Amino acid sequence: MVIEPKIRGFICLTAHPAGCRGNVKDQIDYVLSKGKVTTGKKRVLVIGASTGFGLASRIVSAFGSDAATIGVMFEKKSDNGRTATSGWYNTAAFEEFAGANGLYAKSINGDAFSDEVRNETLDLIAKDLGQIDMVIYSVASPRRMHPKTGVVYKSVLKPIGKEFQSITLDVHSGKISDITIEPAVEQEVEDTVNVMGGEDWSLWIAALLERKLLAPGAVTIAYSYIGPKITESMYRQGSIGRAKDHLENTAKQLSQQLQAIGGNAYVSVNKALVTQSSSAIPVIPLYITLLYKSMKTAGLHEGCIEQIYRMYKDRLFTNSSVVCDAAGRIRMDDWELQEAVQADVQERWTRVNTTTLPEIGDINGYRYEFMRLFGFGVTGVDYQEDVRIDVEIPSIPCVAE
Ligand code: NAD
Repeated sequence: MVIEPKIRGFICLTAHPAGCRGNVKDQIDYVLSKGKVTTGKKRVLVIGASTGFGLASRIVSAFGSDAATIGVMFEKKSDNGRTATSGWYNTAAFEEFAGANGLYAKSINGDAFSDEVRNETLDLIAKDLGQIDMVIYSVASPRRMHPKTGVVYKSVLKPIGKEFQSITLDVHSGKISDITIEPAVEQEVEDTVNVMGGEDWSLWIAALLERKLLAPGAVTIAYSYIGPKITESMYRQGSIGRAKDHLENTAKQLSQQLQAIGGNAYVSVNKALVTQSSSAIPVIPLYITLLYKSMKTAGLHEGCIEQIYRMYKDRLFTNSSVVCDAAGRIRMDDWELQEAVQADVQERWTRVNTTTLPEIGDINGYRYEFMRLFGFGVTGVDYQEDVRIDVEIPSIPCVAE
């Protein structure tokens, strides 16, 4: 089948297997070009492993530290003439390259919030790896069914206390317009914390500890975001920010629990990047177009793979202790939040409108990265070619429907 992008709002309904494979290969090649992280952990569980920061973490662990990896994700295989999701194709490609390099890699596709998927993962660890040395928690989801109560929580992206007025960008038309977002009610804030806060992460760690599946000295990391003043009311002081506060507090509690095995829990505050999750947040895509322009001009731009490689090399697996800020967080947003970068973005923000955007913002860079998330626009891929959409993930048994 010849696959074309079908964009609806902030999602693309199709994905290109060869393009996704190319994306994964590019990330692997980046890691190989930078050299090994020899002190990295060797048995790694990545929850949310198929796209964005989670996929990059899996790639750096495998190809930077020769780690065996188990990845958990929530993706769709191809069905009825519809392509699979990009995370499915990414995982298929990752396992193919890992296998070719003699690296253990298995994946579990299902709801990481459920006890069923958690137990399946723990059984696989016990059977194949014995124990795990590192757990990366990189799930981003708009909803979560609580495993004990069955209640379904939905997250919202809203300010708290008072409405938020700003400008926002429709990435596909390039139009900038005013936006007013009503504040979240208390229940919405609680629900957002239930989805994107740290509870699920702590359930995973508790379950792993209970079954003695964490090796002595094991570490766990989840990803957070802070961002600039421009997005503060919407992001860090908003409903999602409450969830991130909860996640960061969870890291402290988990660190205490992990002391029993000489382990530790961290949150890494990462840079704003184009991923499937960030495209859905109002105002953030406009900020990202200006940020990219500024950081690319200053030679400071990084994508997920560069961020995670730098985190492993310069923060986590250094020859001395883990490098954290005063609040105990790893900071990979250090370049994004540099004073000069933020002053430049702020100045661009005051001048940006639909007419000036192509010149003062990196709208083309944003669109290019957005398309790449789904495997489109990847160098070396012939998009006129007929390709098979029913790509299998080697470790996932193909069950007849
Ligand atoms: P992403 O959308 O690229 O990846 C999300 C991952 O979660 C995918 O692998 C997906 O399959 C998996 N997932 C979603 N629901 C699941 C479920 N129910 N069960 C199992 N897996 C599930 O997102 P991302 O941007 O890489 O975000 C990962 C983390 O990084 C989030 O905590 C996010 O807040 C944080 N972060 C993102 C940015 C950014 O700008 N994108 C910046 C800093 C921090």
